[in-house]
Amino acid sequence: MSETPRIVQVAVPAPLRRTFDYLPPSSGDPRPGVRVRVPLGRGRAVVGVVTGTATASSVPTARLKAVLGVLDEEPLLPPEVMDLLTWAADYYHHPIGEVMQSALPVRLRGDRPASAAGDSVWAITAAGRAVNEASLNRTPLRLRLLSALKKEEQGLTADELVRISARWQAGMKALVAAGWVARRERDCLAPVPRTLLPPPALNAAQADAVRAVLASRAFRVFLLHGVTGSGKTEVYLRAIEAVLATGRQTLVLVPEIALTPQLVDRFRSRFGVAIAVLHSGLSDGERACGWLSARAGKAAIVLGTRSAVFTPLPRLGLIVVDEEHDGSYKQQDGFRYSGRDVAVMRARRSGVPIVLGSATPSLESLYQVQRGRYAYLSLPDRAGAANPPALDLLDMRRLAPDESLSRPLRQAIGECLARREQAMLFLNRRGFAPVWFCPDCGWLAPCSRCDARLTLHRASARLRCHHCGAEGPVPKHCPACGSERLRALGEGTERVEGALQRMFPEARIVRIDRDTTRRKGSLESAFARVRAGEADILVGTQMLAKGHDFPNVTLVGVINADQGLYSVDFRAGERLFQQIVQVSGRAGRAEKPGRVLIQTYHPDHGLFGALRLGDYRQFADDALLERREAGYPPFSFLALLRAESSSPGGALKFLGLARSLAERCPRAELEIMDPVPSPMERRAGRHRAQLLVQSRRRAPLHAFLREWLSLLEEAREARRVRWSLDVDPADL
Ligand code: ADP
Ligand code: ZN
Ligand code: ZN
Repeated sequence: MSETPRIVQVAVPAPLRRTFDYLPPSSGDPRPGVRVRVPLGRGRAVVGVVTGTATASSVPTARLKAVLGVLDEEPLLPPEVMDLLTWAADYYHHPIGEVMQSALPVRLRGDRPASAAGDSVWAITAAGRAVNEASLNRTPLRLRLLSALKKEEQGLTADELVRISARWQAGMKALVAAGWVARRERDCLAPVPRTLLPPPALNAAQADAVRAVLASRAFRVFLLHGVTGSGKTEVYLRAIEAVLATGRQTLVLVPEIALTPQLVDRFRSRFGVAIAVLHSGLSDGERACGWLSARAGKAAIVLGTRSAVFTPLPRLGLIVVDEEHDGSYKQQDGFRYSGRDVAVMRARRSGVPIVLGSATPSLESLYQVQRGRYAYLSLPDRAGAANPPALDLLDMRRLAPDESLSRPLRQAIGECLARREQAMLFLNRRGFAPVWFCPDCGWLAPCSRCDARLTLHRASARLRCHHCGAEGPVPKHCPACGSERLRALGEGTERVEGALQRMFPEARIVRIDRDTTRRKGSLESAFARVRAGEADILVGTQMLAKGHDFPNVTLVGVINADQGLYSVDFRAGERLFQQIVQVSGRAGRAEKPGRVLIQTYHPDHGLFGALRLGDYRQFADDALLERREAGYPPFSFLALLRAESSSPGGALKFLGLARSLAERCPRAELEIMDPVPSPMERRAGRHRAQLLVQSRRRAPLHAFLREWLSLLEEAREARRVRWSLDVDPADL
């Protein structure tokens, strides 16, 4: 009698929405969540994750290959995370193997052992600290290395040392021999401070919020709505404190840009516990180490960005998602999940409460409050003594601006500087000017690879495309008519900085945008200078707005609020409102009253009415009514099929085929639109198009998508274009 063959199902890193079957290794069936090495295709071996076992396969046993090796004794991904990933792969209709890969730290995607060893570093010893640097004058390399290590308590890795000198190894040898430097492992968990800061006494609204969250022992979603500075973070900290006291772990998600050293310090100095910080700026080693510490239960708090939502936490007790409305929670390529939505699903599956916090909650979340699905908690006042800033609109139709700065704004800046306070100006456009233009024939410098104009960067004397990165010199003559009178049209941060410097020659101006903060640490040092009072005016993009506390900023100017007022995207109004509230939140955070000035050519736009009243709920209620009438989310569910091809028309042609294949799928309760060119049809030399599918209910949409994708994957035309499906797309 032959035994029933056992089959091991493995999620392999391949763009296929299914698992692969293998025969078990002689050591027995590996458990789900364990990494295995398996053959894939001809002569290739890959690392995959076991998802389960079965007794039968659709592939004849004789053709099945065996698992080559088992990499983990214990499942690297525990059942809770495996369940979540399986759900996510299904919901986003994304290949399970790629979903599993994106949940693992890079270091653990291959066959490296899962040991929580930190990066190997060289660190200064006590003897090294005592060295008189003058004695090293004749060995400058050693001197440089030693003084770098003096500043870096955590030690430096080989990669980091190379940046100090390509020949660092020679110098290091001597330093180690002298006993001044030693090798060790860098601890990836933020060190626990010796003295902890006592928490402030909560105000009544905060206390109510904390009480409500802690009263919930099971899954429940809380929407914590409070303006910037109203004390939301304080509510998180108190709730976390109580969860920690019961021996459980907390997962805290924040937008990438908000995960600053100050935020980490604020958490650290409150709790005497190990915190794993997970974000994209870490080395692979640090990331793996923090992830494994969380999985081992060693880190009591995980503070991380989007992908930290998949971190294994054996004793999860609470999830917090700060700035829940923030666009960066949505991954924009590959596995296009929403970190916030996955977090809510995780809380539900794990039976724990989740707090979504925001000054400007997403309409999706507010709708769940209206329906009674989410509990609404509000912090109506700013914590401490701060008052809300006064907000004024500047009607630009009547005010002749000087280089985009109207007189009232210039005057307010002058007064602010005279009071020795700081002013902050926003403009969502970096570079000098968005257009390089010929006044004689109307030529506008185009990007040769995109349907877009090139931006002038004057300091570096380049024209750059902000969509594909293409760049080139600035032509002096018009290529169309030969005119020599080419000039810059419109304003970017670089131009405004220059104008301010001319208007306020004494002022110390700091510009913050992607151009000025490319170097690692430069953003932080710029912010540190502002906080230390070494700057009078800050000018920058949205980068400036998030999560940073500058107590001496009392004036906020929005230079151009009109981008987005009349956009085709139905979410543009919501985003604009959120941005302005966010930006306004920077003014007058401490005891000094703040003022916000907004320049607009459309002061009568309805959005500004609600904004002036400071009534986000009113705005949201109105916007939700509009969405209901138009049948947009959250009153419907969307999926967007995107395609791009190198030849013109290729993407549209493929989507035309997709449209006709849709006729063969279950289409009840669905609206399937016609394929259209993307808003920017040509980008980086590729032609792009999209097709929208919409339904009032989720179930029919997903049933349709499942069948539709199977047909698309089989279609031969599908191999000629790049295509992807975006479930719950963030922009259309
Ligand atoms: P948010 O997260 O909503 O922006 P924070 O929690 O950061 O607000 O609070 C803003 C500021 O007010 C912080 O400096 C914080 O320490 C302080 N703060 C918060 N709650 C209180 C309170 N109850 N009493 C005094 N100060 C508070
Ligand atoms: Zn011309
Ligand atoms: Zn381009």
